[in-house]
Amino acid sequence: MIPVQGYLDKKIAVLGLGRSGLAAAIALEAGGAIPVVWDDNEMARDAAQSKGYAATDLRKSGVWDDISRLIVSPGIAHLYPEPNPVVAGALAAGVPVDNDIGLFFQSYPTEEWSGFDVSPRVVAITGSNGKSTTAALIHHILQHAKRPTQLAGNIGRGVLDLEPAHDGEVVVLELSSYQTELARSLTPDVAVFTNLSPDHLDRHGGMGGYFAAKRRLFAEGGPDRAIIGVDETEGRFLAGQLSEGPNDDRVIRISVEAKLQGAGWSVFARKGFLSEYRKGRQVASIDLRKIAGLSGNHNHQNACCAYAATRTLGLAPKVVEAALRSFAGLAHRSQIVAVKNGVTFVNDSKATNVDSAGKALQAFKNIHWIAGGQGKDGGIDCLADKLGNVQKAYLIGASAVEFSGQLGAIPFQICETMRQAVAAAMAEAKNGDTVLLAPAAASFDQYKNFEQRGDDFVALVNAT
Ligand code: ADP
Repeated sequence: MIPVQGYLDKKIAVLGLGRSGLAAAIALEAGGAIPVVWDDNEMARDAAQSKGYAATDLRKSGVWDDISRLIVSPGIAHLYPEPNPVVAGALAAGVPVDNDIGLFFQSYPTEEWSGFDVSPRVVAITGSNGKSTTAALIHHILQHAKRPTQLAGNIGRGVLDLEPAHDGEVVVLELSSYQTELARSLTPDVAVFTNLSPDHLDRHGGMGGYFAAKRRLFAEGGPDRAIIGVDETEGRFLAGQLSEGPNDDRVIRISVEAKLQGAGWSVFARKGFLSEYRKGRQVASIDLRKIAGLSGNHNHQNACCAYAATRTLGLAPKVVEAALRSFAGLAHRSQIVAVKNGVTFVNDSKATNVDSAGKALQAFKNIHWIAGGQGKDGGIDCLADKLGNVQKAYLIGASAVEFSGQLGAIPFQICETMRQAVAAAMAEAKNGDTVLLAPAAASFDQYKNFEQRGDDFVALVNAT
């Protein structure tokens, strides 16, 4: 755990008592602060109480008088569609609002570092899609190269739950837009921006707010190196804004669409081959086509980002290549879970938005597509030109009927449940086909989360 520095004997409010909130309370206490905790949900309050943290109702008037900071969990709205009442109360009282990421950056460096041979570094990854895969891949490459490393953030482990720094270690953090928007301190050494497509727009007041939230990772602390996917306008804008000119190699441009052979530093993938260019010359090339854990163009984008990040940390191309080859992929992300009678079954339950589902639909052939759930604005309208590999759609969940009207000429069946969809897809898929779960929708209408939805799919596939 990273004890939080700077709040000795100060009362710090913690809103949201899930994994990151509880870790924050523990880390604040370890640093000498007095955590004052609250969650609107009674069960979460009870769970915190069982760990020794009695709740204080932060909605009451006068509560802010002697509180120095409010720490907010990422699932709680702090601005749009409207601030949670506790956040609104803190803002009205002039109490600064922060999150565990801000506390981490404020507390991670310690005096002990002066005795280290190599200063610890932090690599932070943001973007609409591919954050977890890229973060896990960077961590995997560093482990493979026997560099001390820890992985945390949105990917599972709360940042304040990390071990204090070791000599020469690299902390890899996956950061969502909610986290980057709120953190008061954001000072990674290397920052990665994978890509941008619409998601969570209600929490950011639209696309401009969403991009601005992600951009803070680059604007606040000024990382030594910025690795930026430039296949969208926003990425190109950000790369341009951060560099002094095309030769400036503090910015590494990433693409899976264009050959970036210009004067600066770039990594791109074309037709399954990754290339690194520096000052107009090719430095390295890697064949990504046979790496099972990195199927599809979208994963090649992640591979380019992870390659660039680990190159900036001094790893040689051959070392990175060997590590990429042993990456098994992450569960629920374009994950091949079975091959039965020549039919490949792919679990991409994490494809909760149209962009990620669209990538999976282009990465596989002869697709029997299981889609639907709690749909997002516009449904699957913008997937119209990405359905060429789909033979039939099997629609589940609340959005089934809406999606059925947006499929054009693609045959479909309303299945409602995963059980019906898997049974129908299995009965119709032939040797060489793919049964793909890539919902293009959130899971909350039928499941607790996307992991439970993916596990259900895998269990049904394996049971038949
Ligand atoms: P995130 O952490 O940003 O949500 P993940 O690595 O968990 O990203 O992947 C989320 C979804 O997006 C999965 O469906 C996955 O297959 C897909 N995906 C992964 N990488 C990319 C990418 N670079 N571009 C678009 N979609 C991607």
